[in-house]
Amino acid sequence: MPSYSQKPKTQDFRFHSGIEALPDAALILSPELIIISGNKKAQRLLGVRFPEDVGRNIEQLLVDPVFSEYLTQDNFESPCLITSPINDELQLEISVMAFGSERVILMSRAIAKYHRMKKMRREFVANVSHELKTPLTVVRGYVEMIQETDHALDPHWQKVFGTIEGQVSRMERLVEQLLSLSKVENNRDDDDMSPVDMPVLIENLVEDAKWLNQEKKHEIRTDIIQDVGVFGIETELKSACANLISNAIAYTPAGGVINVYWQRDGDKLVFSVKDNGDGIKADKLNRLTERFYRVDKSRSRDTGGSGLGLAIVKHVLLHHKAELIISSVWGEGSEFAIYFDEGTAC
Ligand code: ADP
Repeated sequence: MPSYSQKPKTQDFRFHSGIEALPDAALILSPELIIISGNKKAQRLLGVRFPEDVGRNIEQLLVDPVFSEYLTQDNFESPCLITSPINDELQLEISVMAFGSERVILMSRAIAKYHRMKKMRREFVANVSHELKTPLTVVRGYVEMIQETDHALDPHWQKVFGTIEGQVSRMERLVEQLLSLSKVENNRDDDDMSPVDMPVLIENLVEDAKWLNQEKKHEIRTDIIQDVGVFGIETELKSACANLISNAIAYTPAGGVINVYWQRDGDKLVFSVKDNGDGIKADKLNRLTERFYRVDKSRSRDTGGSGLGLAIVKHVLLHHKAELIISSVWGEGSEFAIYFDEGTAC
């Protein structure tokens, strides 16, 4: 029998057979919001597992500031909208209602319209980004052409052209990142999966990083186990790992140390990048994978950051059933670790 924080009541057993017939996901909670029971749709939409999650507070499973705020209201007349904790493509409408004084019912359903909107947004972003590539190439071409003429010798114009070139580079990087994100978001095809030689992939990325990193002269150390790869999409894994390495370089002051690991940890495989750089304040950690989120906008702009890198990482990991764990101490450094299930090893 699962451990209830509150004893189950006879009516809960009756409820349970009733809620299974409902068209929506439904959970029966105690007034303290402890999960008592729920239907199969709640498992699919909300990721609640029975009996494992019985006895847990619903806020531990639906970790969303919108939901937490919704729960603090006095009346629950209108539902709240949150993203499903197990599928970020699903927008859920959640309603909570008291059932007598002893039980609370939480109902949830997916909103189909949201899917369509999200698909439209993805296609729009991909099209616009693609269309921006040509004009940017033309502008870059002209700037480079002018820089080779006598005009560029004047220090004033040198500065002007340098600025234009810098901004064009930023836009090119942004467009590249947007295209990369929409590609990862749109990729639903498991056919691209194949064995990926992670040790070689990581070593190549580290070599590239050392080459690109000559200015800041970080010490980049590696600890890479050989002969273990993962079954996945090589281009995506490369982009995820490269993003973590380039972030460590961007947010670690000159002379810092960056450790890149590929190791076994219990029954998991871990790719991790640890730096002794800026670090991140604890209250910012859970927002890092949001699109365009940057802890310090001006700092990130200086490093050429777009705020899309970790959003790309997050989507890549969704395809690989892997998890990103971020640990950081403000002012001391950060570690970004990707945990792969043993099942994906090859
Ligand atoms: P960006 O392109 O701005 O680097 P990311 O999505 O890759 O965007 O990262 C989001 C934010 O997370 C960054 O703007 C930065 O503030 C923070 N961040 C990422 N990696 C690190 C790191 N290794 N050390 C400190 N802050 C980091």
